Amino acid sequence: MPATQEYWPLVLENIKSKVTESSYKAWFSRLEFVSTGNQGRKIIIGVPSAFNKQYIENKFKGELRDAIGKYYPQVVHIDYKVTQTNDTIEMDQPEEIIKTSDSHQTVTRPDPSLSTYLPSKSLSNLNPKYTFDNFVVTKNNELAVSVCKSIVDQPGTMYNPIFIYGSVGLGKTHLIQAIGQKMLETHPSFNIKYITSETFVNQFILAFQKRKMDEFREYYRSVDLLLIDDIQFIASKEATQEVFFHTFNELHQANKQIIITSDRAPKTLVGIEERLVSRFEWGMVVDIVKPDLESRMAILSDKAMRMGVALNPDQCTMIAESIDSNIRELEGVLNKIKAKLQISMQPSLSDEEVALLLNKTQPDNPIRINLDVSTQTPDRILQAVCKLFAISKADVLGSSRQKNIALARQITMWFYKFELDLSYPTIGKMFNGRDHTTVMHGCNKINKLLKTDTKTSNKIQTIKDLLLHM
Ligand code: ADP
Ligand code: MG
Repeated sequence: MPATQEYWPLVLENIKSKVTESSYKAWFSRLEFVSTGNQGRKIIIGVPSAFNKQYIENKFKGELRDAIGKYYPQVVHIDYKVTQTNDTIEMDQPEEIIKTSDSHQTVTRPDPSLSTYLPSKSLSNLNPKYTFDNFVVTKNNELAVSVCKSIVDQPGTMYNPIFIYGSVGLGKTHLIQAIGQKMLETHPSFNIKYITSETFVNQFILAFQKRKMDEFREYYRSVDLLLIDDIQFIASKEATQEVFFHTFNELHQANKQIIITSDRAPKTLVGIEERLVSRFEWGMVVDIVKPDLESRMAILSDKAMRMGVALNPDQCTMIAESIDSNIRELEGVLNKIKAKLQISMQPSLSDEEVALLLNKTQPDNPIRINLDVSTQTPDRILQAVCKLFAISKADVLGSSRQKNIALARQITMWFYKFELDLSYPTIGKMFNGRDHTTVMHGCNKINKLLKTDTKTSNKIQTIKDLLLHM
């Protein structure tokens, strides 16, 4: 063994102490010492795949350089040699792949049924049901709509990327698909791809397992308009983020238009690399907010008309007032009305029937009682609960099993969960370090009661009223 090789295991040990275990296993465990040259100024390292090399170069260059510098102080240049051909490599597994496979066993021969993991290049994945024709432009989305429309004539030049964010059911998917359809009309030869980031992750994993990374990269490199929906799902998927980062850069440099949606603003995304987040902010960031009453009524009447559901103005107001969170729920109510009309063969429902249907909708739909989250805090909710139940905060947060107190506690947890959108573990901590399963159980119980027990729904309604007037 040449003397210089002796230090190689120390280099690896050093890296091992600096990166996570799964990163080490995935990217470093099969690096080999090949040789040093140029009077010790160069080191050549064997890597199992070009992708492995690229990954290290992009993510762990510093760690590798430092470790090599320690034991090979003269080295100024690091070279790689891809030691195994694509057909014979054992898989180096990114974390998301380790997580998705049942065990740590190496992936065996690719499954031939996976060969269709990428849809045909000519398929855009667009759903014809989402067009501008049936998208109602209201105050809540008009800015997002105008930004999107502004790029139709000269994609890739004006705002790139466009980043649209907003909570669920407010029309993000509909809007970006409508842009896709519009672009297909105006640029029929365009290669347009709509994809959710979840699908992107899955395609990447399959491409990786099938050793088709080049094909995967090529597939996305040739896109003219990339619509990537719900980007928040690539959080913590490091290897996918790496590939997406390069895809993004290539498309961006080639002036190809990218439109991204997310459930939150770039800055508040968790588990997504800073360099990606900063790229998300390069072009135009625009939000879609909750529609106000007027907007909800506009959307509702348009949809009712399209669905052939007859609503009088009072009914329209009643529905729009009662469903104030998201548009998908408005559609849900219309579907129910339509079904009822079909069954009863009536031309329209009476106001009472609509009211009844809305009341029935409520228990299925705990999030319905939407408070303006920005003005509500855990403490205000706690105060309102205490007021209604006439008990102290210490009672609610404590461990008494008295029926009334336990119910107050569970209702408070339920508000924290469904109104403040806090996670079960976070809520557990706020209740004297209770386990998250206890919180989950409490919230489930309230959801069940909401379906069967009007006393509980009245209590919740009263707390809501208290919160609005406190
Ligand atoms: P998101 O992607 O933000 O969760 P979607 O785009 O899936 O929301 O919208 C939810 C439903 O509401 C879809 O059926 C969509 O067609 C409808 N919708 C949302 N916004 C509008 C709008 N402005 N006009 C018409 N329909 C809308
Ligand atoms: Mg969506």
